[in-house]
Amino acid sequence: MSLPPLREVIAAHGLSASKALGQNFLFDEHLLDRIAAIPGDLTGRNVLEVGPGPGGLTRALLRAGAQVTAIERDARCLPVLADLSDAFPGQLRVIEGDALKIRGDDLFDQPYAVVANLPYNVGTALFTQWLSGQAWPPRWTSLTLMFQQEVAQRIVAQPGGSTFGRLAVLAQWRSSARLAMKVHRSAFTPPPKVMSAMVHVEPATMPEGVSARMLERVTEAAFGQRRKMLRQSLKALPGAVEALPALDIDPQRRAETLSIDEFVALARSLS
Ligand code: SAM
Repeated sequence: MSLPPLREVIAAHGLSASKALGQNFLFDEHLLDRIAAIPGDLTGRNVLEVGPGPGGLTRALLRAGAQVTAIERDARCLPVLADLSDAFPGQLRVIEGDALKIRGDDLFDQPYAVVANLPYNVGTALFTQWLSGQAWPPRWTSLTLMFQQEVAQRIVAQPGGSTFGRLAVLAQWRSSARLAMKVHRSAFTPPPKVMSAMVHVEPATMPEGVSARMLERVTEAAFGQRRKMLRQSLKALPGAVEALPALDIDPQRRAETLSIDEFVALARSLS
């Protein structure tokens, strides 16, 4: 069954983009195929797509051979997604709901890749949830997500610069994170105010002897006052300043100069 072009589908169903739901749609099939290729060969793989909207990215994932489960909050999109399900029999399951209230792990028995072009606030909240899990490695095998370019740069940032902070440590201490593709604002309908970028994250080995919660507390204290020296910013965390000399970390340094290994070592010594 051949599908009508996305723009026609949207016009036929009166799917005007809702600002409240952060809707900025992608229509360029070539671009969507490139996004769907970021996680690698998807033939027969489980994919969780959050926010399929009218289904542009969903089509690309289905063309790539994925078994897609899609969570969409906007009921107006459901008839369009049902047509897509008919066109790719047995490949698409659609769940109506708020992705912030549905756990991906409850939807799959098997490992799954996550791919999404989400509203930025929802994307950052989910990203933090997915990376903060206690169980590691997680059931998801990769996260391929659209962010504002500025947020994407903070996720992949290296120590030493002003973009390096809690988000970079969270994304990199037990995962690899890379900026996979920049996406020009003009690619979206309607175009957002800023440029976007796809980030791709894959789980790596978790360092031993350190809890995610303690690392979170360390980065929260250190970056909470990022302009201050560690001997000041870490005062909020009992034992942290005293632990620095044994780790060979100069208390006069500022948080953004510490490597991720140094953050992990500090969290381990307090765990
Ligand atoms: N994936 C489509 C595309 O690339 O053209 C639509 C992207 S649009 C930026 C974001 C989509 O996420 C919209 O369809 C919106 O309704 C949906 N959405 C927003 N908040 C959501 C939430 N909390 N849970 C599930 N879907 C959500």
